[in-house]
Amino acid sequence: MPDGVPLLKPRTLRDPAALVEARLVPPEAEPGLRQVAEQYAIAVTPAVQALIDPSDPADPIARQYLPDVAELTTLPAERSDPTSDAPFTPVKGVVHRYPDRALLKPLLACPVYCRFCFRREVVGPDGGLLTEAELDAALDWFAATPQVREAVLTGGDPLMLSPRRLAHIVQRLSAISHLDIIRLHSRVPVAAPERVNAALVDALQSEKALFLCVHANHAREFSPVAKAGLRLLTRGGVSLLGQSVLLRGVNNTQQDLENLFRAMLASQVKPYYLHQLDRAPGTARFEVPIAEGRQLLRQLRGRLSGLAWPTYVLDLPRGAGKAPLGPDFAHEVAEGWVVDGPLDRADYAYPDLKKTSQEAEF
Ligand code: SF4
Repeated sequence: MPDGVPLLKPRTLRDPAALVEARLVPPEAEPGLRQVAEQYAIAVTPAVQALIDPSDPADPIARQYLPDVAELTTLPAERSDPTSDAPFTPVKGVVHRYPDRALLKPLLACPVYCRFCFRREVVGPDGGLLTEAELDAALDWFAATPQVREAVLTGGDPLMLSPRRLAHIVQRLSAISHLDIIRLHSRVPVAAPERVNAALVDALQSEKALFLCVHANHAREFSPVAKAGLRLLTRGGVSLLGQSVLLRGVNNTQQDLENLFRAMLASQVKPYYLHQLDRAPGTARFEVPIAEGRQLLRQLRGRLSGLAWPTYVLDLPRGAGKAPLGPDFAHEVAEGWVVDGPLDRADYAYPDLKKTSQEAEF
């Protein structure tokens, strides 16, 4: 660094002026983005800034995190609560949609604010931290609801809690005898990897089966620092899953998805869900048609280890749950089944022996 050049301390950028100053958006974009910032939170961490190539107008990292005036347009099909959390909230901070599992949302703050977020109307830096009394009531609800076997910590991002507060929640949940599984969903390992340290790993120790589901959408998010944090977690006995959203301009090519799932597996992150975009306000530019998503996954079958294969799901409106979207490789016919070959794309007849006396043709 030459003499006289001030050393700028990397910081999280939280408004359009800061994005302009960092040369991540052009100055002429600032007025429009100020309107976006009035509606939706912005945060671009130093780790994310380091991943963005400002010379690439189609940069897949920038597209996920930098605001865009397109967010000011809401389509008729877009809903402020697309997954219907509110009607399934028995006490503040809890969402109980499925019989055997429930969400616990201890806060609504995140390290970054993704431009396609399905909870974008509620997440933000002032974000919904449950008071001690509210958290107690939420944990008491879990203790008093024996059909719930799995607690899913989400938000916001539960890894934004201090390790002390996170450990308190994990321990309280671990002490509930009917809970078998604690699952946490987080963007922190890729978007704020400096938060992954020994104290965090300690906070995630539990006698119950505990899974950390890492949200990442592009292979480049697995930076050397992110990979080091993930290694710390796996060495600390934390089982890792991956969740991604299928996003136009970020990962909607065969090569991008292949690279993403390979990057996950290389860090011992098992791809779990690939989400169809939830239609939250101002997110239409990210939507990939379901037919295209199914085709992308079909192309990957056979190219990738089965370990890398996530379930492609759509969260249905009105809280009807996550439906797998395929693709299907088997079609029923009169004599049995026709199965698509994942390697040669040929159709194979597989007779149903109850319907026919023929031998299978494999
Ligand atoms: S980290 Fe998750 S909850 Fe937070 S803005 Fe991104 S998608 Fe939404």
